[in-house]
Amino acid sequence: MNTGEQQIMDQFTMMMFEMENECINDKKDTVEVSEEDLCPICFYRASNCQIEPCEHVLCKICIQTHLQNNKRCPFCNMEVEKIVDLKPK
Ligand SMILES: [Zn+2]
Ligand SMILES: [Zn+2]
Repeated sequence: MNTGEQQIMDQFTMMMFEMENECINDKKDTVEVSEEDLCPICFYRASNCQIEPCEHVLCKICIQTHLQNNKRCPFCNMEVEKIVDLKPK
């Protein structure tokens, strides 16, 4: 019986298990989001931010990336005064 090999296999199995769990958690995040709540830019993350004053919604990562080179709303071109975090429903 080669216990060293067995140990490596156990570590590998644990690693795979953790990876699977992460995937499940990712899916859970997106499944709970209905389609109209998805960010209209990336269609992947939930819209969790609102632009003021125009009230367009999108995800924080997209608006932060966008604001790095453009201070206007990507949808209506209105100047962004601030970004408000939307509370999860
Ligand atoms: Zn987005
Ligand atoms: Zn807008």
